[in-house]
Amino acid sequence: MTDKAKRFPLTLSSVVDQKSKADHSKRVIATPQTATKNAAWDSSRPAPRTAAGAAPTPPASKPMARPAQTASHVDRSGSMVSDGVRKAMVDRVARQGVNDAKVLAAMEAVPRHMFMEPGLSSQAYIDASLPIGHHQTISQPYIVARMIEIMRDNQQGGVLNRVLEIGTGCGYQAAVLSLVAKEVYSIERIKPLHELARSNLRPLRIANIRLHYGDGMLGLPQVAPFDGIILAAAGLEVPQALLDQLTIGGRLVAPVGSRHQVLQLIQRTSKFDWTSTTLEDCHFVPLRAGTV
Ligand code: SAH
Repeated sequence: MTDKAKRFPLTLSSVVDQKSKADHSKRVIATPQTATKNAAWDSSRPAPRTAAGAAPTPPASKPMARPAQTASHVDRSGSMVSDGVRKAMVDRVARQGVNDAKVLAAMEAVPRHMFMEPGLSSQAYIDASLPIGHHQTISQPYIVARMIEIMRDNQQGGVLNRVLEIGTGCGYQAAVLSLVAKEVYSIERIKPLHELARSNLRPLRIANIRLHYGDGMLGLPQVAPFDGIILAAAGLEVPQALLDQLTIGGRLVAPVGSRHQVLQLIQRTSKFDWTSTTLEDCHFVPLRAGTV
């Protein structure tokens, strides 16, 4: 894809049909991100060089290029960016086990650095969660890709009409979701972050995202049902309201737990039945009730 072709608004066709770079034999499990710790960093000072919370990589994999040193041009927002660095991030996510070509293409298309404050944008493509203010983080690239891949692995061959994200944060995952689903709804409970996401997404002119300010634990009953729901924050259990807002056949992916968290996949099999599968370990900021 050319640089120009990667700019938003993107057509879905611009991110499909790319061959996955994944190698099944190199799959690694459990990539804890230290989201809570990272959320507590003072975002005005640089994040540690050795990405705390970075996912373990297979021994054979190469270390990722340092973004600031390989930046190739300056974009509209004035940040140093490099398509090569973003590509390296996606290759790394693939080596960590994400196979879904459409998800990898979406990760390659979304300019992650545009969701960070300028002081941190040179770190945008390391494999770590990073602070976005208000004690919250932008999620680690691997986990963003992995959750979307799990959600897409449905009976409809990955087709997702309407999806819901709980925990918009800076809006990054919503932007990635906009390239794999027809309609994306995302809820954030912290007003300034809801507004931050709005301003981050505005220049990308993505037509199929609707941002809501509110308590995501209640979902969006007025818009439900959803083919997929992703929680970007960890609760001790998944709220029943969200389970009720899944389509039959729909898939919800959520981190569950407090200190020790696991990724859970919940599938709705009938009006009154759901199945739950525990996947890998993960680490997210907490899911909290109410709004601030
Ligand atoms: N999706 C983000 C990650 C944001 S971090 C990304 O693209 O990187 C998780 C977010 O969930 C935080 O902004 C936090 O405020 C939010 N959150 C926690 N509990 C919530 C709730 N009940 N409703 C909505 N948002 C919630």
